[in-house]
Amino acid sequence: MTYRYYQEVIKGKSPKKAPTYIEEEKKSVWVCDVCGYTYEGDLPEGFICPICGVDETHFQKQ
Ligand SMILES: [Zn+2]
Repeated sequence: MTYRYYQEVIKGKSPKKAPTYIEEEKKSVWVCDVCGYTYEGDLPEGFICPICGVDETHFQKQ
C-alpha cells in the first residue's frame, strides 16, 4: 500500500473531524531580533522590517 493510496482512499473515508487545518500550521513565522516584529509566510528577498528598518538577516525563523 502506498502512502498516496492511504491519503486518498483510507483518509478520504475518515470522519470530517479530521484536522485538515494542520496545513495552515506549517506556515513559517519570522521574528525580527531587533524589535520583535513577526512576519508570517516566506520572507521575501530583500525584506526590510517595517518597524525598525533592518534587513532580513535580522529575522529568525521560529
Ligand atoms: Zn524590526
